[in-house]
Amino acid sequence: MCSPIDVSALSLGPLLHEGKAKKVYATGDPQLYAVEFKDTITASNGQFQTQLPGKGALNCQISAQLFTLLEQSGLSTHFRGLLGKGNRWMVVKPLRMIPLEVVLRNRAAGSLLRQLPMAAGQQLKPPLLDLYLKDDTMGDPFLSQARLAILNIITADEHIQLAAMAREANSTLHQALNRVDMDLVDLKLEFGWDSSGKLHLADELSPDNCRLWDQGQNSDSPERILDKDRFRQGLGGLVHAYKEVNQRIQGLGFQPQHYGSMVTL
Ligand code: ADP
Ligand code: UDP
Repeated sequence: MCSPIDVSALSLGPLLHEGKAKKVYATGDPQLYAVEFKDTITASNGQFQTQLPGKGALNCQISAQLFTLLEQSGLSTHFRGLLGKGNRWMVVKPLRMIPLEVVLRNRAAGSLLRQLPMAAGQQLKPPLLDLYLKDDTMGDPFLSQARLAILNIITADEHIQLAAMAREANSTLHQALNRVDMDLVDLKLEFGWDSSGKLHLADELSPDNCRLWDQGQNSDSPERILDKDRFRQGLGGLVHAYKEVNQRIQGLGFQPQHYGSMVTL
């Protein structure tokens, strides 16, 4: 669970990493990073990209609520609070990231349909857990258990721990989102180690990284798509859909912690 945080001002340090969707900064507190969510949206490993004003703030707010939900259910996450400046900043615990994309699939969609003869939307019980190497230059290749063992990224025991946490997060989120009429089709998770060797769920939990279908819409209607597939499929209305997701998640009643203001060093 989150330990209580100091809500006084946090000073912003140097930019440590700029990725496709977020910027990660050091802060005056070595135990904390500040993360800024960008309005940039990309597809096909960055080949296509555009700016969608408001997207970053929505992903930040959605992620903050979902991390809070998971923390309250007993799962360790990197989330430490929202930052006062705008709506697009959060404070996280610095982690040594594991270069894996952990994908949980509750229904068949996306790359699974291109790789296996399955019907779109087919239920997967238990959910399918797929691992990919997080490496844009190689196109995030799929990892079998044997390939993972060759890479020496995590031990067999760590793999078991990570898979259990990923399944727990997926199951908790799936049930919660169901309560607000959204079907969590699949999601990508990232994990990292803190300085004491504890595993935490990290990165973001937003419609950029999962598929969410509106249960109130027909299964063949594009209007049921509330996630980044709106951009991938050129459907438009992405920010409108993310606003809807945020509003419904607010209905779950999880209130993220807040930091005060932020000062530039
Ligand atoms: P990418 O680097 O894949 O383009 P982003 O734009 O989302 O992705 O950049 C955020 C980066 O920060 C990612 O590389 C992610 O693995 C990393 N990250 C997420 N959470 C943490 C954390 N708590 N500590 C350190 N790095 C993190
Ligand atoms: N995903 C992600 N980052 C990636 C690849 C996938 O966040 O680099 C998410 C994606 O949004 C979806 C899930 O992981 O929710 C499964 O993605 P899939 O393997 O189907 O790939 P896609 O067809 O989305 O490229």
